[in-house]
Amino acid sequence: LPEYAFIGRSNVGKSSLINMLTQKNGLALTSGKPGKTLLINHFLINKEWFLVDLPGYGFAQTGLAARERLRKMIDSYILLRKPLINLFVLIDSRLEPQSIDLQFIEWLGVQEIPFSIVFTKTDKLSVTQFLNNRKKYEETLFQTWETLPLIFETSSKTGKGRVEILNYIEELNDQYGKN
Ligand code: GDP
Repeated sequence: LPEYAFIGRSNVGKSSLINMLTQKNGLALTSGKPGKTLLINHFLINKEWFLVDLPGYGFAQTGLAARERLRKMIDSYILLRKPLINLFVLIDSRLEPQSIDLQFIEWLGVQEIPFSIVFTKTDKLSVTQFLNNRKKYEETLFQTWETLPLIFETSSKTGKGRVEILNYIEELNDQYGKN
């Protein structure tokens, strides 16, 4: 089955987003809870696809060795996992472009991993503030890439972006089924 993975720095709002995507309106999440874990968790959705919860990068709580191990595990999942269709990279929309996020995105580009950007917590900003931050990100990305990745604007509080992300996944699932 096709897999869609979610990744971001810890505290970016990943578990809230996964809950928002799966727990309302009857998407069937089979087991477990997304969250603070050092493992890669697979959630089967509607028996059609897996939502993959990747551990947060840039972890500070653990030692260097543990962080290295985690990084290796994440890297090999991303690079080697055949059913991975798209990676959703979560970015806190309140922050200026962060180098750890930009480096990660750069690496994805070099490795030719299909990814989209998900801005989280947009409800915490005014429209103007949000557009400002989004523009800064786009300008930074344009310095490296000719085309911008797909960008989703989300809020786990209001449910913003839920339909868009799920529709996108459904679209990719349809293409996957035809191959
Ligand atoms: P994770 O560490 O990436 O899984 O982040 P969490 O989902 O645990 O969220 C971190 C903090 O941000 C929590 O206090 C959440 O309540 C808060 N948060 C997450 N998403 C949103 C959002 O869309 N809007 C608002 N206002 N707060 C959010």
